[in-house]
Amino acid sequence: MVLVEDEEPVRHAVERALRHEGIAVTGFSDYPDPDLVLAAAPDLAVLDVLLPSGDGFELARELRAARDLPIVFLTARDAVEDRLDGFELGADDYLVKPFALEELLARVRAVLRRTGRLGAAIEAGDVVVDEQAGLATRAGSPLELTPTELRLLAYLVRQRGLVLSKHQLLTQVWGYDAYDPNVVEVHVSALRRKLEAHGLRILHTVRGLGYRLDPR
Ligand code: CA
Repeated sequence: MVLVEDEEPVRHAVERALRHEGIAVTGFSDYPDPDLVLAAAPDLAVLDVLLPSGDGFELARELRAARDLPIVFLTARDAVEDRLDGFELGADDYLVKPFALEELLARVRAVLRRTGRLGAAIEAGDVVVDEQAGLATRAGSPLELTPTELRLLAYLVRQRGLVLSKHQLLTQVWGYDAYDPNVVEVHVSALRRKLEAHGLRILHTVRGLGYRLDPR
C-alpha cells in the first residue's frame, strides 16, 4: 500500500498501524512522482488531499490514468464539494481529519475486501475464514454466516487469544462506534451458536472486559 501524507506524526502513526496489521506500506511525505508510486505496485493508495507541492485529487487523477487503483483520501477540509470531488474521481473512500487510526484501518480493510485484494484464507484451530470468498468453515463444515458475522469472525481469528472489548469490536468490525454495544452481544451470540454446532466453545466471554477467541 502507498501512503502520501506530509504531516510526519500522522504518516508515522498510520505506517506503524498498517504494518502492525501485516500490510506493507511505502510512505511519501509530499506529492510523489506518480511513477514511483506505481513502481511500489500498491493494492491501495491513501492520499492526503492537501500536500505542500500539490493536491491529492490531482495525484489520484494521475495514478488512475495509469492504472485502476483503489484510493482512500485523507482530508482536513470537510466541505461538501471536496467530498464530491473525491467521489467524482471514483474514489473508494475518504476520511476527514482528525480520524481514529482504527477507523482508517477498518476503511482500508473494507476497500481491500471489496476489491478482492485482501489476503486469502486465515485460520485459527479448526476455524477457516476466507473473507474474499465470503466463506467460513469449522472442522470442515461450512458456517452459514451473515456478512457481519463473517467480518466479526475474521477479526476474532486475526486477534485470536486476545481479549477484545465491545468498543474495539465496534470500531474494528463495524468501522465506527456510533452503534449500541448490544449490537456486538447479539452478533457474538449468533456467531457462537453457529460455531458450537460444530465443536466446543471457543468464543469466550471475559466478564466485564469483552470476548476472546481461543481456538484449540
Ligand atoms: Ca497535508
